[in-house]
Amino acid sequence: MVYTIFRDTRYEIDLDALGHNIARVQAIVADQAGRSDRPKVAAVLKSDAYGFGAIPTARLMVEMGIDFLAVACLPEALELRKAFPQQPILIMGYTPDPLLSLSLEQDIHQTIFHVRQAEILSRYAVEAAKQANVHVKIDTGMNRLGLDPDEQGVKQVMTMAALPGINLEGMFTHLALESRQSDYRQFERFMDFSRALEKQGLEIPIKHVCDSIGMLRYPEFRLDMVRPGAIFYGAPPMRTPYDDLLDIRVPFALKTRISRLRTLAPGEGVGYDFSWKAPETGAVLATLPIGYSDGYKRALSNKGYVLIRGHRAPLAGLICMDQCTVDVTTVPGVQAGDDVLLLGQDSMVLHENGQKADSGPAHEIPVLEMAGWLGTNRNEVLTAIGRRVPRVYRKKGTITEVKDYLIPG
Ligand SMILES: *Cc1c(COP(=O)(O)O)cnc(C)c1O
Repeated sequence: MVYTIFRDTRYEIDLDALGHNIARVQAIVADQAGRSDRPKVAAVLKSDAYGFGAIPTARLMVEMGIDFLAVACLPEALELRKAFPQQPILIMGYTPDPLLSLSLEQDIHQTIFHVRQAEILSRYAVEAAKQANVHVKIDTGMNRLGLDPDEQGVKQVMTMAALPGINLEGMFTHLALESRQSDYRQFERFMDFSRALEKQGLEIPIKHVCDSIGMLRYPEFRLDMVRPGAIFYGAPPMRTPYDDLLDIRVPFALKTRISRLRTLAPGEGVGYDFSWKAPETGAVLATLPIGYSDGYKRALSNKGYVLIRGHRAPLAGLICMDQCTVDVTTVPGVQAGDDVLLLGQDSMVLHENGQKADSGPAHEIPVLEMAGWLGTNRNEVLTAIGRRVPRVYRKKGTITEVKDYLIPG
């Protein structure tokens, strides 16, 4: 099959590396001393699978036996439902009351934290003669979402559980990850609350606490299910003692090609405000067809670098909406049309024609490094990549799918 990619700028996803990471997560949670069962895995696919493209990413996860697909909001759940009619899908965030019927109609597993929400779902469930699968969220200290784990909370959850048509399948909380001590305090609050419910005769089958960092840092918090996101996408946490053992690959590469080369005389400026000027020896500049509206943030201007032929080319001048310029004076043999790596890892090291590219020694710009240039975290960098950038999926170096949000189908 021949795929048309309508731009030089594209986001390449290596499905072999992604599959490797999925298998690693499954192996990590399966490896638990003293347990015969393994916790379920709810793969977090919010924000278009952190920019990877929700459907192709979920397809691989479903093929590999991931238990739940977890998202933040209803539209994300509906997108997945269309493609995966049978798969359990959990909305972890808040769903407005008037939309709860739609969630139930599509058999979405729904997070709730208020009796009112349970009553609405119960009414719809009875009408439709089906069960509403709900996960009740507990606020153990993050002060974001959830009901309070106190006596009142016990009464509320008991009321929810007694409503007709409600299947109280899960209960969860989210860690603030401020410190080991605070995480343990949250976990203990959660477990105390769970025991208080058990005393009332309520046993909730799927209890879950951990995101990627929690899952790695606290094996003892994994309970019945984990909710990792970032680790699948090759942006594992860098602050655990497990980093060396993780063996997580980087499946993504943001790439483009040089659209034009230009030689600048000494002192000549480039771009808006001439914010960068050629040194006394002059300079060779490459123009790249990618800008801040593609998620290549303006704040990177005159800070970051790209890789061309394995050599660093620093950004020169302000990043525009659709273009930017880099200093390629020291890149040997540079030519218009050359491949450019802006983020991630060129793990294929393969050109479109399937031949090995001579990319030299450097073939990675770590997401954590770019996050550092921007003063943000790795997830924000990944989710910033825009819908104008086609996603190109590869298996064993061969393109297997292209997703262009502007030109679907
Ligand atoms: C985003 C999210 C996760 C996954 O977080 P990562 O850090 O990407 O692993 C888990 N649980 C909830 C409630 C989330 O919102």
